[in-house]
Amino acid sequence: MEYEMKMGEYIKIREKKRLFGTFGYRGIANKDLSPGVALDLGAALATYLGKGKTVVVAQDTRTSSEMFVHALTAGLISHGCSVKTVGITPTPTLSFTIPYLKADAGIMISASHNPPEWNGIKLWNADGSAFSPEQDLVIEDIYFGKKFLPASWEEIGNVEQIEKISDRYIEAIISRTNQEIVRQAGFKVVLDCCGGAACYVTPNLCEKLGFDVVSFNCTPDGFFKERPAEPRPENIGKLKELVKMHNADFGVAHDTDADRTVFVDERGNFISGDRTFALTCYYLLRDNPGSKIVANVVTSSVILDVAEKVKAEVLWSPIGEPYITEIMKDTGAEVGGEENGGTIIRDWVWAREGPYLVPLIAELMANTGKTLSELSKEFPEYAQLKINVYFPKAEYDKKKFEVLKLIEKKVSEYNYDKIVTIDGVKIFFGKEWLAIRPSGTEPLFRVFTEAETEERAKELNDKGVDIVKASFEEVG
Ligand code: MG
Repeated sequence: MEYEMKMGEYIKIREKKRLFGTFGYRGIANKDLSPGVALDLGAALATYLGKGKTVVVAQDTRTSSEMFVHALTAGLISHGCSVKTVGITPTPTLSFTIPYLKADAGIMISASHNPPEWNGIKLWNADGSAFSPEQDLVIEDIYFGKKFLPASWEEIGNVEQIEKISDRYIEAIISRTNQEIVRQAGFKVVLDCCGGAACYVTPNLCEKLGFDVVSFNCTPDGFFKERPAEPRPENIGKLKELVKMHNADFGVAHDTDADRTVFVDERGNFISGDRTFALTCYYLLRDNPGSKIVANVVTSSVILDVAEKVKAEVLWSPIGEPYITEIMKDTGAEVGGEENGGTIIRDWVWAREGPYLVPLIAELMANTGKTLSELSKEFPEYAQLKINVYFPKAEYDKKKFEVLKLIEKKVSEYNYDKIVTIDGVKIFFGKEWLAIRPSGTEPLFRVFTEAETEERAKELNDKGVDIVKASFEEVG
């Protein structure tokens, strides 16, 4: 397939990158990521875009985010671009805002689910999609080569502060929502916005849709005092408790830039990102057979179960949002997503949604008259296991790709039903699978498995670990 070849090229590009990771640049504020780095990145983006262009700059609630707004702005305007700042805004809201304001690009300042001392810079296109790996490389080339093109005094850009962009975003979501049935359902919801950018969006959106809202951790907090930023099951205990205590219909937790949403059902059970993504696909595609879904390679097979039910096709993608967006654009897929709770909806914005998933899931519940636990139970649950196999760094860096090739060869001994090699190696036995990927940031191979029982997941995982260790040993 054409897109698979293109992704192969992208994976090679990913390895060449020196500054940007899978998705943007991340580092500890004032240590790895200084205002100087941000200034130069602003200059590099302005040089790439050309003079006279406009860039929207958005931020999360981290203590360092405002500092980076100023540094990036200085870099951008001194190199001839104008800046529109939109303040504390979720990533999907930025993605909505760039085309809404007819700007030429956007920058999101956030380290997503990383701890509060971290921050990150991510670049966005005029259509609201993330920069591709190719574009990242061009920016890096300008940045490291200091190929900046400064503006003369009369070319310096201006800065405009745009107020209340979140209100426009909320209005747009509401106009896409079946308000009547959602209002009639009169849902009670508990929200945990992580003290992040969703504080200004999700509570307001839910109130406008007539939900009875219980807010927890919905006041901006750059220290994330209430819980770690990643909405993992072990981090959202308080939300689970509150859902039960308030007899709520469901609970919602975001990460700091709200491009991830996980749900808690009415019984206080965690609904994984895989399932949220799958339920969203089920709802959006139920009357549209022949649709395509793009999922990253470590997404649960629940996406295959949903695809069977709505007669859709699943296309596998490498890990990382830009790859999913590219494949969606190339193949016309309607929905894309990742296992961690981010879902991209083609006819909405080119970013992983957080806030919009809340009325979507509510609509699904109202439409079917089912509780979230009932809806979740309509699709099989799988046991998952993830193990990291560490190696000495120098050796790992030298031979990881050769090791991966050998792994690919070795798994051919197994009687699998299907193999996917778009990012690492994934082999399927029916809907059960084993996936092995070298990490791009740490000296380790990740071994993921999913199976119908925990025993089988463990058995597959043990096999995977053995293959990784043997392959590493064999490559001299
Ligand atoms: Mg995020």
